[in-house]
Amino acid sequence: MALTNAKEFIEKFSNTPSCLQWYRWHIQPFDYAYPDYFPIRPGWLEACAQMEKAYPGHFVHMPYINGRAVASHSELWTKNKELVNKHTTGGHERYGVTDFAVMCPATEFWQNLMVDLTARIFRETKCDGLYVDQLGADTPALRCTRDGHGHTPGDPGSPVRGYRAMLQKMRAEAKKINPDAFLTTEFFSEPLVGLCDGFLTWGSKELSLTAYVYGEYAVLFGHGRTAPIDEQYTRMDCAMVADEFVAGAALGWMMTQDPNPHAYIKKLAPLRAKVASYLRLPMVKPIAGTQTDHFWTSLRKGDNGEAVVIATNPQTNDTLTETYELDCQAAGLKPGKYRLKAITMDGEKDLGPQDVSGDAFKFQVRLEPFEAAVYILEPLPGLK
Ligand SMILES: [Zn+2]
Repeated sequence: MALTNAKEFIEKFSNTPSCLQWYRWHIQPFDYAYPDYFPIRPGWLEACAQMEKAYPGHFVHMPYINGRAVASHSELWTKNKELVNKHTTGGHERYGVTDFAVMCPATEFWQNLMVDLTARIFRETKCDGLYVDQLGADTPALRCTRDGHGHTPGDPGSPVRGYRAMLQKMRAEAKKINPDAFLTTEFFSEPLVGLCDGFLTWGSKELSLTAYVYGEYAVLFGHGRTAPIDEQYTRMDCAMVADEFVAGAALGWMMTQDPNPHAYIKKLAPLRAKVASYLRLPMVKPIAGTQTDHFWTSLRKGDNGEAVVIATNPQTNDTLTETYELDCQAAGLKPGKYRLKAITMDGEKDLGPQDVSGDAFKFQVRLEPFEAAVYILEPLPGLK
C-alpha cells in the first residue's frame, strides 16, 4: 500500500515481513529529474537502520529508479541535451510537469549509465533490491528507428534485446556488491523473466492467470486498482488481497487507506510466510476454474502426489462453511487412501484418513472472516 508515514506502517505491520519499495529515498520529486537520484534524502538511511535495529531481518529495502527515460529537469538533459538526443529512441512522453526522452536500451551509453547507477545505489544505500520502472511496461510499438545504435533501425526486437542486455549487466554489477541482490520492474513481461526477480502486476488484467503460468519463476506483487479510495470499495479491496494470497503473489501494493484490507493483510501475512513452499507449487488450473462463490481458492499439485488447496475468506463479517469439490483429474489424484491435513493461522491439524474415488473429492471448509487455510491431501504409503 502507499505509505506516507513509515512509523505508522511499522506500528501496523510489525508482525509482517515486508519489502518496502522506496519512491522518495532521494531528494527529487516523483517523475521529475531522472536519472538524478543523488543525494540521498537526509535521514532516510538512518530511518532504515532504525527499522533494521528494531526488527532485524524483517524488512527488505527496494529503492525506485526509472529504467527507461531521461527527464527534462535532469542535469543530463539541461547540460547536454545533444548527448541525450543522440541516444533516444526518438520517443518523447510527458508526465505531470516534466518531459521525458525515451532512451534506447541497445546503446552502450544508456546501458552503462544504468549499470553505474545500479552499482552506486547498491553501494551507498546498502539496499536489498532495486525497482527499475517501466521496463516490463515498454512495448515494441516504441521501437527505435535511429541509426548508429547497434541495431537495425526499426527492429521490433531491439527494445527487448536492449533491456535484456542492460538487465544482465545491472544484475552482475549488483551481485558483486550484494550476492542476494534482486531486480524488479513494472508490469509482468515474459522476455524479462529470469532477469527480473519480481514484477509489479498492478497493470495485469488477470493476476491469477499470470501466476498460473509464471508463478514458479518470479515474485508477482501488486494489484491494479482504479476505483476511488473510499470505504464502499472494501469488498473489492479485500477480494484483491484474497486474489493475491491464493495466487501466491506478495500481499499489498494497492492504493487504499481502507483499514479492512490492511487488517486482512496483517492477518494473512504470518500464514503466508509459513506456507510459502506450498504457494510456489504449480497451479493445476487458473484460479477462476476452481473458485467458489464465496471462498477464494487455488488448487496446486505437490511433488509427491499431494493435492494442495489454498483457501481464504475475504468477507468482513460472515463466517463461511462450504463443501469444496476437489477436481481429482486436474490434481492427478488416483483412487485410494489419503490423509487430509490443514495448516491454519492457529497451527496444523490432522483431519484424518480419507478415501478418494470418482471425479471429485469433497470436504468441508469453514473459515471465519479474513481467515485462511492450506489443505493438503497426501497419499498414504502403499498407494501406487
Ligand atoms: Zn536504438
